[in-house]
Amino acid sequence: MSEQSTATGAEELAQRYSRSLIGVFGAPQRVLVRGEGVHVWDADGNRYLDLLGGIAVNALGHAHPDVVAALGKQAETLGHVSNFFATPTQIELAERLLQLAQAPGGSGVFFTNSGTESNEAAFKIARRTGRPRIIALERSFHGRTMGALALTHKEAYRAPFEPLPGGVEFLPAEDLPALEAALATGDVAAVVLEPIQGEAGVIPLTEAYLLGVRELTAAHGTLLILDEVQTGIGRTGEWFAHQRFEGVVPDVMTLAKGLGGGFPIGAVVTFGEHASTLLSPGQHGTTFGGNPLGAAVALAVLGTLAEEDLLGAARTLGAQLTAEVAALAARDARVEGSRGAGLLQGIALAAPIAPQVVTAALEAGFIVNAANPSTIRLAPPLVVTGEQLTSFLTALPALLDRAEQLVAGTDATPEKRF
Ligand code: PMP
Repeated sequence: MSEQSTATGAEELAQRYSRSLIGVFGAPQRVLVRGEGVHVWDADGNRYLDLLGGIAVNALGHAHPDVVAALGKQAETLGHVSNFFATPTQIELAERLLQLAQAPGGSGVFFTNSGTESNEAAFKIARRTGRPRIIALERSFHGRTMGALALTHKEAYRAPFEPLPGGVEFLPAEDLPALEAALATGDVAAVVLEPIQGEAGVIPLTEAYLLGVRELTAAHGTLLILDEVQTGIGRTGEWFAHQRFEGVVPDVMTLAKGLGGGFPIGAVVTFGEHASTLLSPGQHGTTFGGNPLGAAVALAVLGTLAEEDLLGAARTLGAQLTAEVAALAARDARVEGSRGAGLLQGIALAAPIAPQVVTAALEAGFIVNAANPSTIRLAPPLVVTGEQLTSFLTALPALLDRAEQLVAGTDATPEKRF
């Protein structure tokens, strides 16, 4: 019998995947074929509770009827047009974002298709100040295109692609004296940071630090660029994570992920006249940015988040999760506690076994990921229930047992990857 004929549907798809895709993400963990609400199904019919939401993307869960309806209606009305034309949907979305960001008069929005593209645009805005230096933070992640990568700290991501665009320096988070010394020269165009460092392991920056950065950048005429790609659009219980702290208002904010609830759309919001006029006509653009389909979906996402008070839900459920993880940590030394805000949470483990916990979780029907080797990241759809979150925490001790077996190599049944 040939290998092909014995393969199950999932296995066959997996083989075709590895023969036809460039494997930058490694072998896929599962082949997924359907999603509804907080659940997805694989090609073998197994159901998973999706506590990752495409990494902070599926704010309303999978196949939300409002999103499906908005997409269908817009597709029937007007799809893509070139950016030499305006569309009402795009204008309405820009106005809504400015309103939610509480941006002052003279502010503006530039639409992109992803987080890395939003940060590319922010990088260009920074360059247009005429100042040569940009400060980013150690442990930062801002994307994989060359400019966004230049702002990203991790050496393993950077090294294969040097030389990257220059002028970027990295400072440790929470070190205001170092920042003050760096800004004192007056030649720093921008400070760019994530209010919660997501890829680094869900590490929230403190209110005192963020306020200090805002004060110092304002004093030195340096732009404050906040990357809210992972933290924005209600996830932390506010529309944008910086809104948790009064007085932390950026000059430039980058968005993507949750904005489209699964449809690819990103945005750059510039606050006030100065930041909004640095890019002149002809200096930037992208074919699909602001297309009516993405804009219609994003409007539906923002509308439903507000109508169903899902920001309130993120706050309540985040507090519940924090308390339940603390209770678990008190009785299981393998769990140290949690970090984060709202429904962007990292569960800190005592040992670097998060990747094995991810594998064990998949076997048990949960999707989570390892934000770093000792942190499990949860970024579920905001429509998740308290019971669903609790079900994961109830399972966690057994998942840790299984992860320990996997680490020790005592497991007789190797993980079924598809
Ligand atoms: N910035 C941050 C903070 C992110 O978390 C990510 C994605 N993990 C990006 C930028 C890049 O976004 P995208 O993958 O949409 O390019």
